[in-house]
Parts: sequence; structure tokens; C-alpha cells
Amino acid sequence: MEGSIADPHSSAGVATTVGQCLEQIGRIVGDKGVLTEEPDVAPYLVDWRGLFHGRALAVVRPRTTDEVAAVVAVCRDFAVPVVPQGGNTGLVGGATPDGDGRAVLLQLGRMNRILDIDPANYAIAVEAGCVLEDVQLAAAGADRLFPLSFGAEGTCQIGGTIATNAGGMRALRYGTMRDLVLGLQVVLADGSVWDGLGRIRKNNTGYELRHLFIGSEGTLGIVTAAVLKLYPLPKQRSTALVALRDAGAAIELLARAREASGDLVDAFELIAKKGVDLALDHVAGARDPLSEACAYYLLVELATPAAGDALGAVMEGMLGEAFEEGLVVNAVVAASAAQAQEIWHLREAIVEGQRLRGPHLKHDICVPLSAIPSFLQVATDAVEGVDPALDVVAFGHVGDGNIHFNVHWPPATDAARRVELTHAVAEAVYDVTTALGGSISAEHGVGQLKLGDVARYRPAVEGRIMAGIRQALDPDRIMNPGKLAWWER
Ligand SMILES: Cc1cc2nc3c(=O)[nH]c(=O)nc-3n(C[C@H](O)[C@H](O)[C@H](O)COP(=O)(O)OP(=O)(O)OC[C@H]3O[C@@H](n4cnc5c(N)ncnc54)[C@H](O)[C@@H]3O)c2cc1C
Repeated sequence: MEGSIADPHSSAGVATTVGQCLEQIGRIVGDKGVLTEEPDVAPYLVDWRGLFHGRALAVVRPRTTDEVAAVVAVCRDFAVPVVPQGGNTGLVGGATPDGDGRAVLLQLGRMNRILDIDPANYAIAVEAGCVLEDVQLAAAGADRLFPLSFGAEGTCQIGGTIATNAGGMRALRYGTMRDLVLGLQVVLADGSVWDGLGRIRKNNTGYELRHLFIGSEGTLGIVTAAVLKLYPLPKQRSTALVALRDAGAAIELLARAREASGDLVDAFELIAKKGVDLALDHVAGARDPLSEACAYYLLVELATPAAGDALGAVMEGMLGEAFEEGLVVNAVVAASAAQAQEIWHLREAIVEGQRLRGPHLKHDICVPLSAIPSFLQVATDAVEGVDPALDVVAFGHVGDGNIHFNVHWPPATDAARRVELTHAVAEAVYDVTTALGGSISAEHGVGQLKLGDVARYRPAVEGRIMAGIRQALDPDRIMNPGKLAWWER
């Protein structure tokens, strides 16, 4: 039936087939599980940044794994593409269908139950539609930590974080989602279910299947549930905002903080002072406790599950020495949870400040830690070489070598010039990244936004391996077509 579904208004025969497909899906998920009216579906068809607008036959909202499996089987029979969507906070258009209107958008938000909290095994089992923050809170209620944390945590869903291998603020210590998943349940492209919801930590009986699906952006299967790793809940935190001599000082300071604290560094975030100024100009409640004239600030957080109050002294001692040696120009260590929250608010307000300043180019790169100072200098020079009026605002998870290297153009730049700059700047930034042995997409993935860029920089042999995996799991290409598969371009 390949190609039998198209615009429902294009011919009576096709409309009948579409009608049959939706009728079968409706029988599976019930009336409330299928949205087809324009005002109901519209919010799901545009991505978080407003860059991509798609169309779909329907938004389908299943409640169980069995329903997902049955819906996918119907889609396979009618050759209808399936686009999975979680919280729709992805930054590369991965959860937005294309414009031809042939796909079903599978919204996982109604599958939001915490299935089981297992403190003894440091594990929690959840459905894919659980919001990340709800999982953090459920774990904390059992005196455990689920460490994945980032700005979109109040909206993004566990299925989305698995499909994108999300990282965030605490990946430095706990790893990315790839390190935090113990077991997975996945509906495959033929409608069958792989139930890999184990919670064991060692299993050498063949290929590690869960890693195929983590970071696969919905192109190999639909994640319906997961068992996630938990950690002891921190009892002490010490948070500091530090004004740095230069970006190189951040790298030296990370080594010192790891050593002085016994490797208790929980977050290590670089913030361009320009980003702080944007936050102060645009975002309510943002306050700079340092007001230092320097190029970079750093947010450092130490945390431990041990009781007591020793961490503050460790932080102060480490920063005091760095100040004596000129690495640090000034610093403030939060004296209360409220002050720590204020420092975090400043960090998070940078994203909002940049958005409110206006459209800009985002580059989410990763280089080896030691190459960060060189990257920042050479990539900034390269961008200014494209056009001296461009303004770089860099920040991010520097402890992982991951920088959000964002570039603003002057407000008067017209649309045609913006397109030119988008390509020229990406090439300049990604050439530097690649020359330093880095990745041009550290956290955000490929989606539809970065297909061309990734195809340019990844070796053909990787494309051949990935094509084989895709062919084995989704021979009819119904799973999120047009996303991630840069080798198919
Ligand atoms: C303010 C802000 C800050 C952010 N900070 C970070 C950060 O620090 N680190 C980081 O890694 N990301 C960050 N992101 C990006 C984004 O939040 C993450 O990529 C997140 O993991 C996406 O989750 P989601 O549920 O919103 O997924 P969606 O946007 O809905 O989908 C993302 C991709 O996953 C697929 N997908 C969704 N659910 C499933 C499923 N159940 N099964 C299979 N495929 C599925 C979709 O098809 C799509 O390809 C940020 C985004 C925002 C808006």
C-alpha cells in the first residue's frame, strides 16, 4: 500500500483509505485519543523554536504500550509514517512532521505513570510520557536522586530525553541519558514490542540493544517505558559564581575543584559575561551578584550525599587559592539555598535573554576539554571573519567540553543575508570544531535541522553502519522519516 495515503482532499479513493486508517486507530485509542481538528492539532505541529511547521493526518494519544503497538501496526499496514513526540522541547525539529500531511503524530504525554520506585536497586521504572521533573521529584521522595537536569525539565518527557540522549547540567558527574538507562521497552516498526525493562547492571549476552534506541530520535522505534538509574540524594550543596581571568582558567579550575572536593563537582557551567548582560536586560528577577568586568563567569556546584556542612569550606578554600594565583578575579559562594537559586536563575536566564534579544544562530558543539580555550578564540575569530558585525555569546556545560556557541546578527539584517550568514557561520564554527576533534551536535541531535551539516562532517563508513541498522529495524522507513538519517540524503 506504499504511497496510498496522501492529502485526504486529493482524491476520493485516498480519502477512503485515510478514513479507514483513522477509523482503525480510533477503535484502538478511543475518541479522545485521536485529534484531527485544526485548533486541537496546531500546537503539536510546530517546534519549540518556531522554525519548523508540519502537517499530520492526526495527533494520536495512546494510554498504554499495547495501544502504541496496535497503532504502529495499523500505520505499517497503511504505510503511514509515525512521528513520535514527547514534550516537544527538542531544538532540531525532530518531533515535527514534514509538510506533506501523510504522517500520524504519536503524542506520548498520556503515558505518564511512575510504574515503580525501587530504592534498594537504585532504580525507577516510568512510562515514556513522564515529565522529567516529575521523575526527579518521585526519586527525591524516596531519598534518591535522578540526576538528569536542564532548562526544559518541567516540560520534556523521559521518552524524548532517551530518544535524544539528553545531557544537561549534571552530565559531568552522572553522564548523559545513555548512562542513566538500565532497561527499555520499545515498540518496533512492525508493531511488536521489545520488553527490555530489566534493572540489572551487568549483562554480556550480546549486543546492548538499549543503546541502539537511546539517541535514535524515534527512527528505530517508539520508547514506551524505561527503568532509570538513581543515586543517593545529596544532603549538602555548595554553589558559587566565579569571575574568571579567562576561559583557560575554567579548565584549570575544574581540575582543582575535582581534586579538592574528592570529585564531588556536580555542575560546571561557563557563562559569557555578554550572556549575563542579556539576562539582566531582558529577564525579570535576574541579578548579577558580582558585576565584574571580565569575559567569562563560571557556575560551580559541589554536592554530596554525606551529612554535614563541610562543602562550603572546601569551595571557599579552593576558590581562595585560585584567587591568590590570579585564576579567579572575584567569586561569591551562596550562603543560602535562596542565593544558590539566584545564581542558577542567572544561568538559566541567559537562554531566555538570548531569545528575547531576537533570532540567533545556535551551535551546540563539543570538543576535548583542553581544547575549549582554543575553540572559543579561533571560532570567534572565524565568525568575525565572516562578518565583523556578528556577536558571539557562548555558554554551556564546559565541564563536558560542551559549548552552546550562539551568534547574533545585527537587528537590521534582511532575510536573504540571514540565510547566507546561517550557512557561512555554521561552516566556520563546524570547521574549527572538527579540526579540534569535536562533535558538531553534542546534545541537541540531528532532527531535520542538522541533516546537511552532519552529512558533511561524519565519515561515510559511519553512514553505512547506521544505514544497516535502520534497514534491519525499519525496512519500510515509517519511523520518523526525514529525521536523523543524514546518510540517506
Ligand atoms: C530551554 C531549553 C533547554 C534545553 N537544554 C538542554 C540541555 O541542557 N541538554 C540537552 O540535552 N537538551 C536540552 N534541550 C533540548 C531538549 O529539551 C531535549 O532534547 C529533550 O530531551 C527533548 O525531550 P522532549 O520530550 O521534549 O522530546 P521532543 O522534542 O518531543 O522529541 C525529541 C526527539 O525525540 C523523539 N521522541 C520523543 N519521544 C519519543 C519516544 N517516546 N520514543 C521515541 N522517540 C521519541 C522525537 O521524535 C524527536 O525526534 C533544551 C531545550 C530547551 C527548550
